[in-house]
Amino acid sequence: MQASDRVPTAHRTIGHWRAVPGPLLCALAGIVAWQSTAALEPDESAPMLGFNATAALEQRALERRFDSDLSAAELREWLQSMSSAPNQVGSAHDEANARFMLQRFRDWGWDANIESFSVLYPTPKQVSLQMIAPTHYVARLKEPVVPGDESSGRLAAGLPPYNVYGADGDVTGELVYVNFGMPEDYRELERRGISVTGKLVIVRYGGGWRGLKPKLAYEHGAIGCLIYSDPRADGYFQGDVYPRGAWRPADGVQRGSVADITLYSGDPLTPNIGATADAPRLSLAEAKTLLKIPVLPISYADAQPLLAALGGPVAPEGWRGALPITYHLGAGPTRVHLHIESDWSRKTIYDVIAKLNGSELPDEWIVRGNHHDGWVLGAGDPLSGNVDMMAEAKAIGALVKGGWRPRRTLIYASWDGEEPGLIGSTEWAETHARELQAHAVLYVNSDENARGFLDAGGSHSLERLVTEVAADVHDPQTPGSVLARLRARLRVAGYEGGDGRAQSNAETQALARGAASGADLTLAALGSGSDYSAFLQHLGIATLDLSYGGEDEQAGVYHSDYDSYEHFMRFGDPGLAYGIAEAQTVGHLVLRVADAGILPLQFTDMAGVYAGYVHELHELADERRARSATLHELLEAHAFELATDPTRAVGPPAAESEVPFLDFAPLDNAIVRLERSAKAYDAAYSSASHGGLVLNAARRSELDAQLQQLEQALTSERGLPGRPWYHHLIYAPGMLTGYGAKTLPGVREAIEGRRWDEAGAYIVTTARALEVYCDRLEASTALLRP
Ligand SMILES: [Zn+2]
Repeated sequence: MQASDRVPTAHRTIGHWRAVPGPLLCALAGIVAWQSTAALEPDESAPMLGFNATAALEQRALERRFDSDLSAAELREWLQSMSSAPNQVGSAHDEANARFMLQRFRDWGWDANIESFSVLYPTPKQVSLQMIAPTHYVARLKEPVVPGDESSGRLAAGLPPYNVYGADGDVTGELVYVNFGMPEDYRELERRGISVTGKLVIVRYGGGWRGLKPKLAYEHGAIGCLIYSDPRADGYFQGDVYPRGAWRPADGVQRGSVADITLYSGDPLTPNIGATADAPRLSLAEAKTLLKIPVLPISYADAQPLLAALGGPVAPEGWRGALPITYHLGAGPTRVHLHIESDWSRKTIYDVIAKLNGSELPDEWIVRGNHHDGWVLGAGDPLSGNVDMMAEAKAIGALVKGGWRPRRTLIYASWDGEEPGLIGSTEWAETHARELQAHAVLYVNSDENARGFLDAGGSHSLERLVTEVAADVHDPQTPGSVLARLRARLRVAGYEGGDGRAQSNAETQALARGAASGADLTLAALGSGSDYSAFLQHLGIATLDLSYGGEDEQAGVYHSDYDSYEHFMRFGDPGLAYGIAEAQTVGHLVLRVADAGILPLQFTDMAGVYAGYVHELHELADERRARSATLHELLEAHAFELATDPTRAVGPPAAESEVPFLDFAPLDNAIVRLERSAKAYDAAYSSASHGGLVLNAARRSELDAQLQQLEQALTSERGLPGRPWYHHLIYAPGMLTGYGAKTLPGVREAIEGRRWDEAGAYIVTTARALEVYCDRLEASTALLRP
């Protein structure tokens, strides 16, 4: 999965460039005028975190040897064969792909195995949807073969469109249109006197995570939920539809999981433990992540007659999509009958795990993963990223055959069962939790990869490392590095007023300033939606998620039959040039962490980012306080009643409690100390580097051990309020955003949810974690000093 709603970002000096031939450009010939000019190569003498000047030269030479083994033709061959049949959990081709990779990893010199888990994965047995009033319509619920896309005719082993982990049910009732189905949408309906109790809702994709839509519908009393793809989001409103263009055709459907991953990811029956054959399991009734009502994803061809027949008030302007109808809210007179029955048996999933032992520090592990299961063919999501990871493994294998060996241990993993709920990665991380917490120094994730800009998210102690790596990777379409291109884009976005990727104009401007000044890249905070979750948020392992995208047109086939090889080669990453860029980016980064003298972490950037998060909390509380006070005044003055059009009355919003002043002092103080400790470490690191990082081996390994444990200081065993599986106190998926991240979630979500005691308690808990982090960081600084 992985929705592209994150914020990519940039900064810092680009280095000097000189011309060399650029073979990658050929793949995209004709797109940009300077394709015919030579590509440029980065400065050999630019500083490299964790390496002295001589070692950096050797490392860049190693990276060139690594690059020489990467082949777009090979990526293409793997992508085509691995996406040639449906790859969902439990399908024969998904297992065959795992076995294919197992063999390749072994051929390439890795110690590879398959680790299997037995997980709950319901599949549809019977699905039907009809409108029974005011007219009759039987929903097609099928994605037809598309001319020119041979793959879309090879789907006999696939499943029909469905939302995994929705409940079985046979329900009939009036329909209500609830826009995105988010909390504010229900508040608007309430003000119009429209209830969804005992009714079915129809909701459009977008505006929040898929799984929250039926969950919130259930909490508001609905008995069933239909989720449709409005053409405004990813159909003809965006561009020509497939096969003429890339966008979602009328019958295209977005499948997807509705398991409540904001509580925990992985197998719904085995939270906190690996889903091995003999693991104790919850009953279906006990599994809190399973949905309680039936839910079905449908196409806009099937949604249109249902929506067109709705009566009631016309939908507010912001609720209207791009269908050629007037959008009404209901309830009724549209009545629908929805029937879903599933096979609730467990299925086997296959994680491919390949290991290469480190020569000097075998107990320090770098874990690298991408999933291999798809919803149907999965060419874009996930195989485009998976084949890049395979290319890295092959090139690393070739280095080993040439006599090189990583200092630290590498573990490459191709996960199964990501689509239903990050299952393969979560079950593996839970099974090996203790070893991972003792040994893993980094987890690097990727998922779908496509043409465009570097999109980097993760632990903020890794910003300098990512920036340095990005400065040394050629952009396939322009003469500079992928870093230079990203910075240019952020600066232009600042001038033009944002490109929709940042959360706010203030953020866009901050990113533009950072890019202009040459500061380190700002990593996006990670929420959920791909396999990093268990590593970062459950185990507290420093994590990165790296991909390219933003110039592709994959959104219209996301999780549908049409996410095919044919579509991807036209609209995802023609020539797979960005597949090569991805393999270089992640590969170089993995090699640098593997061979660095000291783990390449820096903390000044991180302290600045965290200070920004705390500042946001102050602003959030102040803004809520002012708004609640204003609302109170308006209600007192009966302003809403006086201002509304009496012929189309909209009632006043519900009253809100007053917002008290919170004591942020513990967090404010912790941030001041973090900023000081971070500067001290980075300064000590810099002097040690100038001295050639000549710490003795014992000192270095003691320092590494300290640094390896750092991220875990940011976790709490008790976890976040109401969701103890999520241990990280800085990054979590939002309870009401799903994939989108909430930073300092214990405090932020308590303020948003007006739970003031909880906010106060998590200010203290989070501050204490930051203080422990500072203790360890200061101990690390002491080890760096002579
Ligand atoms: Zn994916």
